Amino acid sequence: MADEKSVGRKKRRERQEVARRRELPPELAPAEKGPLGRLFAPVAGFGVTISSMFRPTVTEQYPFEKVPTQPRYHGRHQLNRYADGLEKCIGCELCAWACPADAILVEAGDNTPDAQYSPGERYGRVYQINYLRCIFCGLCIEACPTRALTMTNEFELAGPTREGLIYEKQDLLAPMLEGMLAAPHPMVEGTDDDDYYRGDVTGPTEDQVEWVRAHRPDDATLATARTTAAEPSTGGQR
Ligand code: SF4
Ligand code: SF4
Repeated sequence: MADEKSVGRKKRRERQEVARRRELPPELAPAEKGPLGRLFAPVAGFGVTISSMFRPTVTEQYPFEKVPTQPRYHGRHQLNRYADGLEKCIGCELCAWACPADAILVEAGDNTPDAQYSPGERYGRVYQINYLRCIFCGLCIEACPTRALTMTNEFELAGPTREGLIYEKQDLLAPMLEGMLAAPHPMVEGTDDDDYYRGDVTGPTEDQVEWVRAHRPDDATLATARTTAAEPSTGGQR
């Protein structure tokens, strides 16, 4: 045991000797201190502290005063809707595949004539983001083909439980804006999913409102839906 210790000491001394002998190039060698520099060297570090005492305070009084983030700050995700209230997510899972942290779970469901949630054949039936894993890199929103998934500026995502940090679809769906009609309901008559992607649908139509009135007469958005005229599909010829 004693031998091992003395060998260790010897090796350490050899390493120190090599380091001492190593000569730095002149441009990297530390400048020689003058007499004043040598005098104040032991307390030089306090210079930073003392000079900071006379600078304006930059302490943020969070959470009592919230400083707005930069406009493109990557915060909580949001699943967006079209102007007539249908969801933009088509359940393609590209966001989940793009995620380097494996934080997204998507399970698609089939749209049916009685339950159409998004334009086209499928919608995101299950949508979860695990904020214990998410690193807010934004790769998922870049991968989304319909701009269904975007990121808001909301950054307060702490919570007391692990389960609470797994956000479900209802936590991520964008709120209904004034004039929208809650899904499910049929697509605007005479349109296809391309018309939706191009932004040709500007709000719910009378037919959609009538459909919801017949199937969900208690739907709260019936009272506020602002109808627009249906635009015939151009079949992508523009
Ligand atoms: S921001 Fe990045 S880590 Fe978070 S869910 Fe999207 S791809 Fe995954
Ligand atoms: S959010 Fe976008 S990428 Fe993800 S499943 Fe929905 S449509 Fe696809």
